[in-house]
Amino acid sequence: MVVADSVFEIKGLARAIAEAPARLLFPPVCAGCRRKVSEPGTLCGRCWSKLRFLEKPWCAVMGTPFSHDMGEGFLSAEAIADPPPFERARAAVAYTGVAREMVQGLKYNDRTDLAPWMARWMLRAGAELVAEAQVVVPLPLHWRRFLSRRFNQSAELGRAVARMAELPFEPEALRRLRGTRRQVGLRRNEREDNVRGAFRVPPEAEIHIRGRRVLLIDDVYTTGATAVAATLALKRGGAAAVDILTFARVLPGDFRPDEAAPI
Ligand SMILES: [Zn+2]
Repeated sequence: MVVADSVFEIKGLARAIAEAPARLLFPPVCAGCRRKVSEPGTLCGRCWSKLRFLEKPWCAVMGTPFSHDMGEGFLSAEAIADPPPFERARAAVAYTGVAREMVQGLKYNDRTDLAPWMARWMLRAGAELVAEAQVVVPLPLHWRRFLSRRFNQSAELGRAVARMAELPFEPEALRRLRGTRRQVGLRRNEREDNVRGAFRVPPEAEIHIRGRRVLLIDDVYTTGATAVAATLALKRGGAAAVDILTFARVLPGDFRPDEAAPI
């Protein structure tokens, strides 16, 4: 039948496009500055050198780097003054200009080809967390934002991390009950009010969480308020422990002048 055939052809075409290698769909441009590069998903030399990978020595809890080696298990002032409910947080890179471009590219420009690259760097920074994790859960978007964007960048990163680490991936295990305002510019108590009660483990998902060590994935760790709220919800849902792994992390007071654009 002609109609059925053409429907089949359109479906086939859609599938071919969906499965096409990224280089056919995206011009191979640098993920940082959009200049041409030889391979898709990579950075040019200039942007690569600007990316700041976070490495030891770092705070055993927060994963924030120290300028000197303070010894194993040494904690940052932040972790001591305000111990978080999660066990450890790690991020692959500092949230500077190039990292920001990558995050924005993944979030708004459908550069899903970036997710495996970013996930690989996350696995490196979070190796200790990944080794002990039992389930990978991405930070959910509010459904309204999901409908307008149809894409959750944290889920893309989480899926890639889970696949590479061969861990179960549970994108439905945490639900966002309400939208939150942007955290940037809010005072600390405002930030906490903004995210309090924003997340919940739905009863049908508790089976995936109960008694498990959860690796929570997000694109950027900014103030920590979102990570704290999501951790508390996962623990209420029965999680034994929660670790946070993000692609990038804001390091307060760490921006160089050329990277001082508002975030
Ligand atoms: Zn570049």
